[in-house]
Amino acid sequence: MHEFGITARIVDAVMGAAQENGGNKVLKVDLRIGKLTFLNLEQVRYAYDLLVKGTLLVDSELDIEEVEGVIKCINCLEQKEVHFKGECMEPLPLFSCSNCGGKVEIIAGKECLVKGIVVET
Ligand SMILES: [Zn+2]
Repeated sequence: MHEFGITARIVDAVMGAAQENGGNKVLKVDLRIGKLTFLNLEQVRYAYDLLVKGTLLVDSELDIEEVEGVIKCINCLEQKEVHFKGECMEPLPLFSCSNCGGKVEIIAGKECLVKGIVVET
């Protein structure tokens, strides 16, 4: 389960940050997860609940902001949101510009990061 490993890294990072800041308890964690990561957020939440047991993060609130995937053509600079129906695709499908057929780069939607945490000191 892909989500489990990623969530474990997030929990570790939050724990490290909380300890550095003298936090005794983490009350809230804000994540930003791009849709092009294809993470299943239900599984992220499930993994989170398991992983935080017995840690500083136990009973913390997990707030996840989802970010739409956005691609930009490196030729004509057209930007477009990308949407997928259904399940995760791996590896990522190759996109091309619907306007000129040029190569595109992903400019949003691949992020998976901790936006902020709230700790009790
Ligand atoms: Zn183009």
